[in-house]
Amino acid sequence: MLKIAFDNDYVYPLEKNHRFPMVKYELIPEQLLREGTCTDENFFIPKMVSDDHVLLTHEKSYFSRLCELSLSKKEQRPIGFPMSKKLVTREKKIVGGTIECCNFSMSYGVSMNIAGGTHHAFHNRGEAFCMLNDQAVAANVLINEINSVNKVLIIDLDVHQGNGTASIFNDKEKVFTLSFHGKNNYPFRKEESDFDLEFEDNANDSMYLGNLKKHLPQIIQKFEPDFIFYLSGVDVLSNDKLGKLGLSLEGCKERDNYVLRLCKENNIPVQISMGGGYSSNLRDIIDAHANTFRLAQEIFF
Ligand SMILES: [Zn+2]
Repeated sequence: MLKIAFDNDYVYPLEKNHRFPMVKYELIPEQLLREGTCTDENFFIPKMVSDDHVLLTHEKSYFSRLCELSLSKKEQRPIGFPMSKKLVTREKKIVGGTIECCNFSMSYGVSMNIAGGTHHAFHNRGEAFCMLNDQAVAANVLINEINSVNKVLIIDLDVHQGNGTASIFNDKEKVFTLSFHGKNNYPFRKEESDFDLEFEDNANDSMYLGNLKKHLPQIIQKFEPDFIFYLSGVDVLSNDKLGKLGLSLEGCKERDNYVLRLCKENNIPVQISMGGGYSSNLRDIIDAHANTFRLAQEIFF
């Protein structure tokens, strides 16, 4: 069964006009239930990540200050959210959700977190709406605790570079980080992933998918991961306010379809976190994210 991490705490009230589209976390499950892609049974409420699990990836003093709400102004500013206990609880549940998803992925092939993809969180700092790096934490948990998982591949197709993830695993051989992203996009100072591919503005479906189909199978074949994390940000869409790329809704769907089928064909469990989506048309954000869930159902079940 497709298991999906979701909790009402994912929807964190922000001031009106905040540029983060928090409402999508509410609308996506509604949409999936309404259209019949999912039933209540598909969803599970994640537990908060344990401190021990966080500390496999994040610096102790940073994590303590985050939990105690004592990050300095200078540390808070790049995160872009008003800090509160509730926000930290939300982040811990999202990371916990991604970790719990991994067990479901190992049983069923795939599982998903509605939220997550907090790839701009570094070892000792947060930025761009990310405080704890859900897939990085989960990758380290798998490598430390699951005997059958020795090598992990992180496929980051959010339009922004997974700079936090790249930095966290910079010198770690067991985790291969791949990031496809916009060249002229935040983060303007890029980190070095194991495989980076930068796209010029307005890169279209065929440029994007051509590169994906050229490189991804080779990487999987060469690295032979035991587990895959997929960050399926939909800010690659042409009408995204931040993305600058030119993918169509269909192209974005084909991207997800290709990645998920490749995981299935190679018999490698995959966990999906949603990542960004900042289209001016909320309908498109919901539809593009919903496509990822629809495809997971279609391909795996
Ligand atoms: Zn993004």
